[in-house]
Amino acid sequence: MTPVRSKIPALPPRVEGLAALATNLSWSWNREARALFRTIDEPTWRLTRHNPIALLRMVPPDRLERCAQDAEFLRLYDRVLEWMGTEGDVARTWFANRHPDLVGPARPVAYFCAEFGLHNSVPIYSGGLGVLAGDHCKSASDLGVPLVGIGLSYMKGYFDQRLRLDGWQEDSDEQVDPITTPLFLLQGPKGEPYLAVVRTFGRPVFIRAWQLQVGRVPVYLLDTNLEENHPEDRTLLSKLYAGGPDLRLRQEWILGVGGVRVLRAVGIDPGAWHANEGHAAFMLIERLRELTALGVPFKDAIRAVRRTSIFTTHTPVPAGHDVFDTEHLTSCSGPVWEELGISKDEMLALGAHPSRDPGSFHMTVLAISLASRVNGVAKRHGHVSREIWQDLWPQHPVDTVPITSVTNGVHLATWMGNPMMALLDRQLGADWGNRLDDPTLWEQVRQLEGAELWDVHLQLKATLMGFIREEARRRFADRWKEVSQVVGAGTLLDPNAFTIGFARRFATYKRADLIFHDVERLHRLLVNPWRPVQIIFAGKAHPADTPGKEVLQNVYRFTRDPFFEGRVAFLEDYEMHLAHVLVQGVDLWLNVPRVPLEASGTSGMKAALNGVPQLGTIDGWWEEGYDGSNGWAIPLAPADALPDAVDTSDADHLYRLLEEEIVPLYYLRDDRGVPHGWVERMRNALRVAGSTFSARRMVQDYVQDYYTPAMRGTPLLDDPPSAMNR
Ligand SMILES: *Cc1c(COP(=O)(O)O)cnc(C)c1O
Repeated sequence: MTPVRSKIPALPPRVEGLAALATNLSWSWNREARALFRTIDEPTWRLTRHNPIALLRMVPPDRLERCAQDAEFLRLYDRVLEWMGTEGDVARTWFANRHPDLVGPARPVAYFCAEFGLHNSVPIYSGGLGVLAGDHCKSASDLGVPLVGIGLSYMKGYFDQRLRLDGWQEDSDEQVDPITTPLFLLQGPKGEPYLAVVRTFGRPVFIRAWQLQVGRVPVYLLDTNLEENHPEDRTLLSKLYAGGPDLRLRQEWILGVGGVRVLRAVGIDPGAWHANEGHAAFMLIERLRELTALGVPFKDAIRAVRRTSIFTTHTPVPAGHDVFDTEHLTSCSGPVWEELGISKDEMLALGAHPSRDPGSFHMTVLAISLASRVNGVAKRHGHVSREIWQDLWPQHPVDTVPITSVTNGVHLATWMGNPMMALLDRQLGADWGNRLDDPTLWEQVRQLEGAELWDVHLQLKATLMGFIREEARRRFADRWKEVSQVVGAGTLLDPNAFTIGFARRFATYKRADLIFHDVERLHRLLVNPWRPVQIIFAGKAHPADTPGKEVLQNVYRFTRDPFFEGRVAFLEDYEMHLAHVLVQGVDLWLNVPRVPLEASGTSGMKAALNGVPQLGTIDGWWEEGYDGSNGWAIPLAPADALPDAVDTSDADHLYRLLEEEIVPLYYLRDDRGVPHGWVERMRNALRVAGSTFSARRMVQDYVQDYYTPAMRGTPLLDDPPSAMNR
C-alpha cells in the first residue's frame, strides 16, 4: 500500500497521530476530530473544503509546532486519539452484541455499488445513490457490521457544474489528485501494480485498486489506469456515468467481475453479497463462474449464488435500469457461457425481460434472477417494484411477488449540524449518542426547549447565508464576468426571510419548476413586504439529460429576474459540502416529485435531522414519514389525472399550503421573536427522522433480515422468477 508519508509531510512527534486520523474518513463524522482540524487553521480548513490531508500539506510547519505545544489543542487531540484507538475494538458494538457468532474471522458482507458518496474530498458519486451507499458504509462501521465496499475510482470524478450566463449547464472536468485524498494504492502479492485481470472485448484489462478506509469498513475502488493496459482501457473508469452505453457496459463488467477478483486477491471471502442497484449485477455472473469452474453443476451454482445474494433496486424510473444490447454484452464478456457450461442463449436468458425489449439484456432482471433477497427502498417503492417486476412471476398476484422493502435512512453524525448536536448534549444528556436505538430518546425530543431550538436554527441559517456570500465572492473573483451572476447566486437573499430549500438532481420527475407554475401567484408570495419568502435551488442535471437541463435553465432564469427582487437563488455545483450547509440552514425543505417516481428521497431526512420540516408530495419516504406533525403533504391527485392536470393540482395545493398555513405559522412570533407553532413542527421533524429514518436503522434492518441469514446459510424458501425454474 502507498505509505501515509507520501501524502502527509512529517508532523511534530507529539501530534503525529494526525496523519492516521486524516487518512480514515471516520474523522468526518466525529465532531471533535472535525474541531481538531479546524483548530489547526480555520481559513485553510474552509479553503480546502474540510480536507484534512490538504490542510496538513498546506499549513506552515511552525503552525503545527505551535499546536503541538498548545495545552488546549493537545487536550482535544488526546481525546480524539483515544476515541480512534477504541474504534479498533469491535467487541462492544451492536453487531457483536447481537451476532457474536459472526464476529472475528467470519466472512464479511461484500457491498457492491457503482458510486460512493462519502465526503466531497472523494468525488466518486453523482447523487442520491452514492450518498446512500456512503451512509450505509458509515453506519455499518458504527454498528460493527463486518462489511467491505467495492466500487470504481473515477479519477476525473463526476463533472463540476458551471452555468453559462443563460443558465445552460456546462460540464467541466477536474482531475482528482489522489495525493490529497485518503485513497491508498494496493499492490499485488508479488509487488505487481495490479490485482486482477478481466477480459473485455477480447483484450485483457489489468485492474488495480485503491483502498479507502471508512471507519472500520474498507472500500476497494477499482482503477484501470495502468501502463500494462491498451490506451483506450486506461481511461475506462476515469469518469462516472460518462459516455454511451458501451462504456457503461464495460465499466459495469469491470465492477462486477473485477470486483470479485480483487476481493479474492486481497484475501476476502464474503459470506453475503449485496448488489446495490443493478450496475453491480455482473458480480453475480462472476460468482457463478467461480463455482462452475470448481465443478459445481450450473443449477447448483445458481442456487448457491441466490442463497447468498441481496439485490436492492433504487428507482422505478426506466432510465435508472440499465439495458444492454445482447451483442454488445457478448462482445464485452467473451464466451463466459462456455466456462459456465451453458449455451450462449441460456446465459442471455438470465437478463431477458419476459415481455419487453427482445434482444436486450436487463441488469435488473439479471440481479433479480440471481439474488434471492430483493428489496425496494421505501414501502411504497416496494409495492411499485412488485408491480413493475410482476411479469417475472406470472403465477403470483402483485402482493405476493417476492420483493420487499427496506426504507432508506441517513447517517446522523454526518448530516446533523454541530450546534444541533450541542443542543442535544445540553438537553438530552451528553450520552444521547449511545442511546440512538432507544425510542424514549426520540420521545424526549418533544421536550426540547423552544427558544433554544430556535436559536440553534438561526445559527445554522446564518452559517448558510455567510456561506452563500463567500461562495459568490469566490466565484466572482475567479470566473464570473457579470454582476447578475452574483445576484443569481443568492447575495441579495434576506437573512431573516422565510427560506425554502430545493436541492437534488434535475431529473424532470423531481419537478424543480413546479413552484413556478403560476408566476404571478408565486410573486405575491415571495415579495410580500410583511412576510417575505425566498427560495434557494441547487442541483445538477445528468450530462445527457437535455430536458433536465432545460428545467434547470428555466429555474435559473428566475434568479436574475428583477420581478422577484433577488428572492430566488441558484447555487452552482451541488455536492455533499453544499448539501450539508443547505439541509442545515434553510427553514423548509421542498420535495415535489411526480408520484410514484421517487423511490425514497433522502435529502428531506437530512433536513429533518436538523429540525427542518418538509413540504412534499406523498411519495417515497414521505408516504411513511409524514404524520401530520412534522411537515406538510400535498394530497395525491386523482389516479386517473393526466400529467398536466396533476401538475396544476399539485401546484395549487403547494401554493395554498404556503399561503394559508406554512408562511403564516412561520411568522407567528411571541414577544421574543420565537415562532412556537413552527418550533413544534421542528421538534417533530427531528423526532420522526431520528427514530425512524436513520441509516443506523436501515443497516440494522439489512443485517437482521438479509445479511445474517445469508451469512449463516439459513435455509430459505426460495421463490425464483418462473424463467429460472425451467
Ligand atoms: C442526499 C443527497 C442527494 C439525494 O437527495 P434526494 O432527496 O434523494 O434527491 C443528492 N445529492 C447530494 C449531494 C446529497 O447529499
